[in-house]
Amino acid sequence: MGAAASFALDFLLPPACPVCRARCDRNGALCAECWNGLDFLTPPWCDVLGTPLPYDPGVPTISPAATADPPPWQRARAAVIYGERAARLVSALKYRDRMEVARPMAAMMARAGAELLADCDLIIPIPLHYRRLWARRFNQSGELARHLKHLSGKPGVNDALIRLRPTRRQVGLNATARARNVAGAFRVAPDRTADVSGRRVLLVDDVLTTGATLRAAARALRRAGAIVDVLTFAMVVEDA
Ligand SMILES: [Zn+2]
Repeated sequence: MGAAASFALDFLLPPACPVCRARCDRNGALCAECWNGLDFLTPPWCDVLGTPLPYDPGVPTISPAATADPPPWQRARAAVIYGERAARLVSALKYRDRMEVARPMAAMMARAGAELLADCDLIIPIPLHYRRLWARRFNQSGELARHLKHLSGKPGVNDALIRLRPTRRQVGLNATARARNVAGAFRVAPDRTADVSGRRVLLVDDVLTTGATLRAAARALRRAGAIVDVLTFAMVVEDA
């Protein structure tokens, strides 16, 4: 939308929360209730998984879960724990095309992932399969990555990863089924291999659930010679 059209809309409509449509102070901002309903992740966290640690060890620490089943990335961070309000933001962006939620979501991600953003050479979103992209019109991870590029000034490539086949929706699948569903689903585009080889890539998605999708994508990037960090808006945390 152009600035003039946006201005006209601001003038006609009172600012509304992009999640719940309650009145709020300014356009694009969450209302106090939605903001306060979010469970922000803050240190101390596991350096590899980004999950909360029960106490502050004072030095970068790896949780037992990360040691038991090391992911193919170096560090993952998320802005919030996946809960009821976080789910509303994610679905507002994903299924209801409320693109204006992407900016505040990306701003929260930039805060949680400040260190990762500062260290990265390239920002890459998890792609949708083209058939699903066509049906839904836009990729929510691409939208978050676009705002993160803008906020950090770091470059990004949207077409570095190719989704080889449309995967079933992960909802309702257990961890093993999820891993099987996405195994080998990604590869690095042949003409992008030189861009990612030897570079530190920040892989962006909306939610880290079991991590099956992000693990499959990170593995593809690693095979192409990239060092991978992961930044998502929300993260499922057991017993949170
Ligand atoms: Zn709200």
